[in-house]
Amino acid sequence: MRDISIIGSGYVGLTSAVILAENGCKVTCIDTDKNRVRQINQGKPPFYEVGLESRLARIVNGKGILKASSDFERISNSNITFICVGTPCNSDGSIDLSYIKRSATEIGLVLAKANNYHTIVIRSTIIPGTTEEVIIPTLEKYSSKKAGRDFNVAFNPEFLQEDRALHCFTSPDKIIIGEYDHRAGDKLLELFNGFTAPVIRTSIRTAEMIKYASNAFLATKISFINEIGNICKKMDIDVYEVANAIGHDSRIGRKFLNAGIGFGGSCLPKDMEALISKASELGYKTELLQSVVNINIEQPPRLIEIARERLGQLENKVIAILGLAFKPKTDDIRHAPALQIIGQLLSEGAIVKVYDPKAMPRIKQLFPNNIILCSNATHAINDSDCIILATEWDEFRDESLYAGKIVIDGRRVLDPEKAKQVCQYYEGVCW
Ligand code: NAD
Repeated sequence: MRDISIIGSGYVGLTSAVILAENGCKVTCIDTDKNRVRQINQGKPPFYEVGLESRLARIVNGKGILKASSDFERISNSNITFICVGTPCNSDGSIDLSYIKRSATEIGLVLAKANNYHTIVIRSTIIPGTTEEVIIPTLEKYSSKKAGRDFNVAFNPEFLQEDRALHCFTSPDKIIIGEYDHRAGDKLLELFNGFTAPVIRTSIRTAEMIKYASNAFLATKISFINEIGNICKKMDIDVYEVANAIGHDSRIGRKFLNAGIGFGGSCLPKDMEALISKASELGYKTELLQSVVNINIEQPPRLIEIARERLGQLENKVIAILGLAFKPKTDDIRHAPALQIIGQLLSEGAIVKVYDPKAMPRIKQLFPNNIILCSNATHAINDSDCIILATEWDEFRDESLYAGKIVIDGRRVLDPEKAKQVCQYYEGVCW
């Protein structure tokens, strides 16, 4: 049985851990958050991900092949360690490598005492050059050993989508292996035995860039269609008809062409910032990528502009926001457009009511006192002057919920024709 350690038990680390354990590996999840560790050992995921709860419970309560711990010494039992810790942004947009550095330090200290040959696989998203310039030197420093000779390193970017993370691991579109040398790549590839996805073996820094290029392209697609949507709206053209039509072109494709209030989440916004920041450090001005970010930031305030046009000053107006997560079927509110909307409404003195099927505990941590947390959509809608739709959860798609109300739709949740018949007023952000 393969013995694997995974550092970081978030969306990436824990879903990988469950699948690897289901595939017969013995997995140790290492996380500095002791609460998280306790929850995982009780079989309870510390976040919402479709299908994860039952599968984690089965694995943890089963043969004891998945265990969580805060003790890095446990790594010494394994011969592969994945690093899946967060890589957020600093306030200047550059990548914050503090969690990565701490992981590499702890692994290095364990390697110093270990006798077995260990392969370290980085799955966190990191700016090209980080593995070679930061991670490997840290591992070598704290282990007093040499990469390639005494241990090995590979970079295996993660492309999972929250809401289908488990499926993404088992059925990836591609497997990217950035290898320090062939031995590291071969070791990693053994874990993907039986997978049918194309495998691309390359240098570590190329693999690091593939991840950023992929996210930058997706973000560009979203800002592109939002800009087209903003133009369409002024010309009384439905951007969704346009998107559906151009999406048939196999060179374009329909995915990521849903016009609305833009991208959020734990990846695209911070990865764009980090790439732009790195380019600037290298003396390159990113005209396109910066425009993609600017368009994205300017999209949510368009909803508030519509609200002002309908209601006048927003002070003391009751605004309900339905949907807080950055997309449906997740509880992740990191960089969600809804946060930007809440902040702006509060600064204008509005009374804000919110509801999301999964993200309420997370929003409560951010806004414990100054917004009204509702127990369901109807509770939020009742007594509101205006409703903003910020995430396209299926349960918000019933037009009859909004009879006689002013509705501003940021995600094409409702069918505009039907909504106009039922609502007092309906308008979309760019339709
Ligand atoms: P997350 O914030 O959900 O989880 C990170 C975990 O790491 C937390 O449990 C935290 O307590 C733990 N941690 C932090 N420092 C630690 C340390 N030194 N030792 C042990 N544990 C530590 O993060 P995530 O969403 O799973 O993302 C992880 C990485 O994967 C990021 O680089 C992200 O950009 C990338 N990624 C994320 C997704 C996604 O959809 N979430 C997709 C692709 C790539």
